[in-house]
Amino acid sequence: MTANAPITQDVLTIPRKLPEGGRTNIVGLTREQLREALIAAGTPERQAKMRLGQIWQWVYHFGIRDFGAMTNLAKDYRALLAEHFVIEVPEVVSRQVSADGTRKYLVRIAGGHEVETVYIPEENRGTLCISSQVGCTLTCSFCHTGTQKLVRNLTAGEIVGQVMLARDDLGEWPVPGEPKDETRLVSNVVLMGMGEPLYNFENVRDAMRVVMDGEGLSLSRRRITLSTSGIVPEIARTAEEIGCLLAVSFHATTDEVRDRLVPVNKKWNIETLLNALRDYPRLSNSERITFEYVMLKDVNDSDADARRLVKLIAGIPAKINLIPFNEWPGAPYERSDWERIEAFADIIYKAGYASPIRTPRGEDIMAACGQLKSATERARKSRAEIAAEAGISG
Ligand code: SAH
Ligand code: SF4
Repeated sequence: MTANAPITQDVLTIPRKLPEGGRTNIVGLTREQLREALIAAGTPERQAKMRLGQIWQWVYHFGIRDFGAMTNLAKDYRALLAEHFVIEVPEVVSRQVSADGTRKYLVRIAGGHEVETVYIPEENRGTLCISSQVGCTLTCSFCHTGTQKLVRNLTAGEIVGQVMLARDDLGEWPVPGEPKDETRLVSNVVLMGMGEPLYNFENVRDAMRVVMDGEGLSLSRRRITLSTSGIVPEIARTAEEIGCLLAVSFHATTDEVRDRLVPVNKKWNIETLLNALRDYPRLSNSERITFEYVMLKDVNDSDADARRLVKLIAGIPAKINLIPFNEWPGAPYERSDWERIEAFADIIYKAGYASPIRTPRGEDIMAACGQLKSATERARKSRAEIAAEAGISG
């Protein structure tokens, strides 16, 4: 990728209402949107709140996809729902399981496009890494996703759907009437898959509101981490409207190097980014920001870099997550040597910051950070073609 690659956020979102039969997908609607949709479909207004609560619980607490199974609703009301709505999550095209237990799902969304979702089991938690876009408009030079040409935003339903399909695969839905199993297999969600979440702000926000809702999937905002390359104008909004934890793809300690690694730095440079980050913990009422730092041999991994990094972030409650570079075919970089990574981590640690080194997971199935890139890349289609396939006029 050249440093002059375009920086654009003008991409298409396929609308939630899909052409087949004109029924609305419930998955991904906010409570308010679902309430309105229920009323529009003929639910008496005075019942709407109660019906909403019942349906919400079936869909997001029990993972039910069939209105017929909603036994606390009258039969004719279930029929009415089935006439107007569907409960749909994206289709899992394939599932690969790594030697280390990591699962990678190739997921097909409307229009035939594909994204990847990765489940990473650890001893005390299970992290689901979800995608927010097909591909990415940004062209970070070390990222496989950034080389994918085709880009479209995911809908809120397609984002929430990734959490639901993982729970389907893991068999994690509670069974009505049976005692609740409190262990959560999907205990954490990270928006670190394909795409730049802050270039798809509204859909990501609505999806996270559904995921955080206490009567459904019920993941607390502290178990959700959004990773951004540094889309400064949306950072305060993320604090106010989502309130989740924030991770920032920092990766360099001078603008010259960051311009090359994360081209969006030319729009919002290191200083501008740090200023926006300083306010985040207060605005979001969260503790620390995670600075992600990919370790690239002889590019950004010197002792001087480590010292500069510590100086730059002084005053920001932070943890620095060192990510050994994950290679992909044709990648223009190499992973820093292990001793180098440890020396770098040590300088940061001695300056008083946690400096965990992220263990690469699922490398054998190309599921590690930055390796995601779906086969839809082969189809370098125009926007009009994408729209036509999805059944909408471009
Ligand atoms: N677009 C968002 C989130 C997705 S990437 C962002 O850039 O923050 C998740 C993390 O993986 C980011 O920190 C990204 O910079 C990093 N990453 C990308 N490619 C990588 C690679 N090949 N090896 C290691 N980390 C990589
Ligand atoms: Fe996009 Fe993030 Fe990859 Fe950069 S690192 S190209 S922002 S997905």
